[in-house]
Amino acid sequence: MKTPFRLAAALCASAALFVSCKGQPEQQEGDFADNLRLSDYRPVSVFKTPQSDIRQASFPVIDIHSHAYVDDVEGLQQWVKDMDENNVEKVIIQTKAYGEEFDRLYDLYKGVSDRFELWCGIDMSSWGTPDFPTKAIEELERCWRKGAKGVGELIDKGMGERASCKVKSPGLHFNDDCLIPIFSKCAELGMPVSCHVADPIWMYEEIDEHNDGYMNSAEWKIDMTQPGIIGLEELVATMEEACSKNPKTTFFACHFINLSHDYELLGKILDRHPNLYIDNSARHLESCVTPRATKKFYEKYADRILFGTDNNASSRLYRLLWRILESEDEHFYAQGQTYHWPLHGIGLSDETLEKIYSGNARRLY
Ligand SMILES: [Zn+2]
Repeated sequence: MKTPFRLAAALCASAALFVSCKGQPEQQEGDFADNLRLSDYRPVSVFKTPQSDIRQASFPVIDIHSHAYVDDVEGLQQWVKDMDENNVEKVIIQTKAYGEEFDRLYDLYKGVSDRFELWCGIDMSSWGTPDFPTKAIEELERCWRKGAKGVGELIDKGMGERASCKVKSPGLHFNDDCLIPIFSKCAELGMPVSCHVADPIWMYEEIDEHNDGYMNSAEWKIDMTQPGIIGLEELVATMEEACSKNPKTTFFACHFINLSHDYELLGKILDRHPNLYIDNSARHLESCVTPRATKKFYEKYADRILFGTDNNASSRLYRLLWRILESEDEHFYAQGQTYHWPLHGIGLSDETLEKIYSGNARRLY
């Protein structure tokens, strides 16, 4: 019963900017408004508008961006059950792993179901020595022979891709020339490369009362004081340069390249690089906040967007995503969401849904 009281008090407190709320002592109201933490704010929508409960995606889905969240057979069997119930045909596990760890994950997932596809990482352990990239290519080919169908997720949040690198700082950006032979090998083997650059824009802004994504950015902030770190704009430029330098390689840039706040720019980037695709993973809650602009973008670039989750999948998560992408529901909240803003259905057309759910992924393999 805590939530409704808090909500009522919070609504009352904001209304008190203009009129005083009847039946609430002034003092108590002011105290509540002053003491309510944004992280405790749990509004409940009051709107009597259509509420969809979409139990299955309307077309078969290939989730091209997930990770090895599950590490046991029973958990994987449950995952397959959730996939069946939700019309998810296939899930791509971007393991980021190579060597023994890649083999272990491959055997575990493939042992349960062929509907998991495993992608490997790049072995960066010899970076900085004359053996790089020869060693990295050898390991890439070995993973490919084992069954890896793509590479990912490579991550550069400003300090370079260095997750598995012995050298501490800063690592390689994706436009680095020493990655060219590796990316060329990916193209030769028909392996797309999944790249994550930067983070959403509010992670770079001041953490203050004006920050639009405050509830996430406060915990997820990028520390721009690290020596050698580069910011959002420069990172996007490295991604573009990687596409230009490796025209035969297919790149999947994760999370709308963290540009879902600027579809005009994102569209221009896609126009410039025919070998670049984007995934919508982990940016559903960020993009549905502007449903009309987002729908326009999806419809225009329907051939270039791939569906992904990037979260520990469950029926609850899947259904929320179908609701966001397919329905025209307005102003609703999801259990456990951390943003303070309400969500909206984007209401994509069937033609677009078919492409982003699996049509594009099928075409690219
Ligand atoms: Zn991811």
